[in-house]
Amino acid sequence: MAKWVYKFHEGSAAMRNLLGGKGCNLAEMTNLGMPIPQGFTVTTEACTEYYNCGKQISQEIQDQIFEAITWLEGINGKKFGDTEDPLLVSVRSGARASMPGMMDTILNLGLNDVAVEGFAKKTGNPRFAYDSYRRFIQMYSDVVMEVPKSYFEKIIDEMKEAKGVHFDTELTADDLKDLANRFKAVYKDAMNGEEFPQDPKDQLMGAVKAVFRSWDNPRAIVYRRMNDIPGDWGTAVNVQTMVFGNKGETSGTGVAFTRNPSTGEKGIYGEYLINAQGEDVVAGVRTPQPISKLAEDLPECYEEFMNLAMKLENHFRDMQDMEFTIEEGKLYFLQTRNGKRTAPAAIQIACDLVDEGMITPEEAVCRIEAKSLDQLLHPTFVPEALKAGEVIGSALPASPGAAAGKVYFTADEAKDAGKGGRGERVILVRLETSPEDIEGMHAAQGILTVRGGMTSHAAVVARGMGTCCVSGCGEIKIDEEAKVFELGGYTFHEGDYISLDGSTGKIYKGDIATQEATVSGNFERIMEWADQFRTLRVRTNADTPADTANAVKLGAEGIGLCRTEHMFFDAERIPKIRKMILSDTVEQREEALNELIPFQKGDFKAMYKALEGRPMTVRYLDPPLHEFVPTDPEDIKALAEDMGMTVEAVKAKCDDLHEFNPMMGHRGCRLAVTYPEIARMQTRAVMEAAIEVKEECGYDIIPEIMIPLVGEKKELKFVKDIVVETAEKVKAEKNSDIQYHIGTMIEIPRAALTADKIAEEAEFFSFGTNDLTQMTFGFSRDDAGKFLDSYYKAKIYESDPFARLDQEGVGQLVKMAVEKGRAARADLKCGICGEHGGDPSSVEFCHKVGLNYVSCSPFRVPIARLAAAQAALNNK
Ligand code: PEP
Ligand code: MG
Repeated sequence: MAKWVYKFHEGSAAMRNLLGGKGCNLAEMTNLGMPIPQGFTVTTEACTEYYNCGKQISQEIQDQIFEAITWLEGINGKKFGDTEDPLLVSVRSGARASMPGMMDTILNLGLNDVAVEGFAKKTGNPRFAYDSYRRFIQMYSDVVMEVPKSYFEKIIDEMKEAKGVHFDTELTADDLKDLANRFKAVYKDAMNGEEFPQDPKDQLMGAVKAVFRSWDNPRAIVYRRMNDIPGDWGTAVNVQTMVFGNKGETSGTGVAFTRNPSTGEKGIYGEYLINAQGEDVVAGVRTPQPISKLAEDLPECYEEFMNLAMKLENHFRDMQDMEFTIEEGKLYFLQTRNGKRTAPAAIQIACDLVDEGMITPEEAVCRIEAKSLDQLLHPTFVPEALKAGEVIGSALPASPGAAAGKVYFTADEAKDAGKGGRGERVILVRLETSPEDIEGMHAAQGILTVRGGMTSHAAVVARGMGTCCVSGCGEIKIDEEAKVFELGGYTFHEGDYISLDGSTGKIYKGDIATQEATVSGNFERIMEWADQFRTLRVRTNADTPADTANAVKLGAEGIGLCRTEHMFFDAERIPKIRKMILSDTVEQREEALNELIPFQKGDFKAMYKALEGRPMTVRYLDPPLHEFVPTDPEDIKALAEDMGMTVEAVKAKCDDLHEFNPMMGHRGCRLAVTYPEIARMQTRAVMEAAIEVKEECGYDIIPEIMIPLVGEKKELKFVKDIVVETAEKVKAEKNSDIQYHIGTMIEIPRAALTADKIAEEAEFFSFGTNDLTQMTFGFSRDDAGKFLDSYYKAKIYESDPFARLDQEGVGQLVKMAVEKGRAARADLKCGICGEHGGDPSSVEFCHKVGLNYVSCSPFRVPIARLAAAQAALNNK
């Protein structure tokens, strides 16, 4: 018989995959003898089984759950559903990787109409008992039965109004009893006449199912996609004896970190509320007290808490994020986990832990989430612009970085307006955020909330995303429906600009200019360690001298992809390339190309200089030519004049260039096959630039010339012959003995399939996984975003194959091409230059298949360096 349920004392920290993060840590804490309300974990495998059985919990699993309940009754001396002193439990999710706020929780489970009477008598606190019951009905209805929360909130508001009170706390025991009855009526109504379940066993099975089901709710799916968490892991369910932080002034509940999750500074950092349940802190409905104040409120609990928190940090050798509850002066830990943190905090903590002798540099490198380095490269305000800025309010600095943008009041509108939508800069302003807002938060530059502390949903999620967030600004008067808020004497409507500083918590009127960040100190230390451990080289995709210089500063070891067409879009240059494209004869085309040489050569020279001797792979002209042709009537007229043609003739020529499927059309090396003079011009520009910079600066330059979109060896050979002929000519003219390499991109499936043949002509391969993904899936790289959402919903794909390499399909082509290529040419250098080169999971794949380097955009170079080190350490 399979084991689906583990009591806390049966587990350990090593059982994370089976028990989930929360479950294995509760087990570990139990084994450490810490004050933990006891309970048990239903495994992640039971979750998978639930989905395999058509979303049913098998009898065997149910039996094991009830057997564990009997055990829990025994150790607590209380019975489930008892009329004197009922056992109450919480039911919480807990996946392998922590997904804060993404899945469901149910508290106070086990109460019913009779148990609540017993509970009231036993606690001598009827108000507390009925408050617990009405909360349970509300939570169970919402989470398990999906009855909207708002139905219940409306009733609370009505009752408060009728009683003439402002706060829930002012309602009496009788009021709350009345409320519980009204809630049950709402439930019955919403459930077509079905009564609220009175049998705690039914309640428990409903709750376990709801947690399993919540693994697949839309916000959890989005979170998993953003954090590379596989959909088949499933969540565990933790059933734990309830303890109560809402039993009066010697009770309370809180969340704390052993180090500051924003800065990494050592020292307990947290918040609590007296006389409250955990949801009140996490939901950010009341703004909590700093943990230091607990020393005044409940000094003994504070001291015990501090000692145990340190014990946990020393045991897990990492910063801990803990939830605790104090029930009538007795402290309990409800959970601990390695805390989520900003990138600056991650770096500070990793370096401090190495200095404190707790971890090795190898561990430090593995502790930092590579993607999070993005945050370090986040903008700050331009100092002069900031001086002129008017501060209109301030609140908690919940997630660092500076942001300015237009105000939007709902997640949907933010999503439509922001990143991935209309591309506006967006500040999402909310009363409080909830996990359903995740996509809107992702689309925003900054998030501002009226309610909530540093551990509220908005703060935790924004930090995870690296999005600037200021939370808990109680001075704001907001009307979300009317889309307006007031602050600092001003009124802001949708579309008005504000600016936020997530590092100071200040809120400014208007659109303050921001600037990119610079990095140093501990960041350099981590990067130096990473560079020692990695074997993959990291290059950058750059096509301007400025980007090149920036990438070198961020640690790029060369350019892996210089897209030469980007050099032609400049206002001064584009007329010349248009002339080339519209030329009728080779002579005309050569004349136009001759005008382009100085620009291209000038850029190459500047880039070789910025690289200071590092290598550069120059990719020859790639896009379909129609991308260059004019559409503006003025431009068409100017071009006609320049070429001595009529406007009509120019238009007709442009129309001729139209292709039904340009991405599969006349582009890449096909251009050089039809117009060899283009390859000749580009070769001359590269070779002359290299020879001249070599002479001027003494760098040992070996140009790397890369032919794109090759699918056939003979095609490559055709272009290569042109390149060699021209390169040799330039060498002779310049009396130079410079070497050069000619290689190809592998971005057409046929090239991967025939890689052994192609390697006979290519000295290196660079996998263009943007096109390779496009052509392997048959998905347009420009349009796939429009329908991929349906694929995620239908669970056909879990992530965007253009962002995260599809290892199963596209990856197989890459692996095969490397093997075939190296079988034909043992020293074949292989790299990747598609967008995947900066994605950590794809970098790990590149390491595993033995690529020599990855190449990515400048700002992702540190991410790739770190991911490469982690790949090497994790795959030793
Ligand atoms: C690619 O296809 O992966 C590539 C790097 O080339 P481009 O994006 O320029 O088509
Ligand atoms: Mg390409």
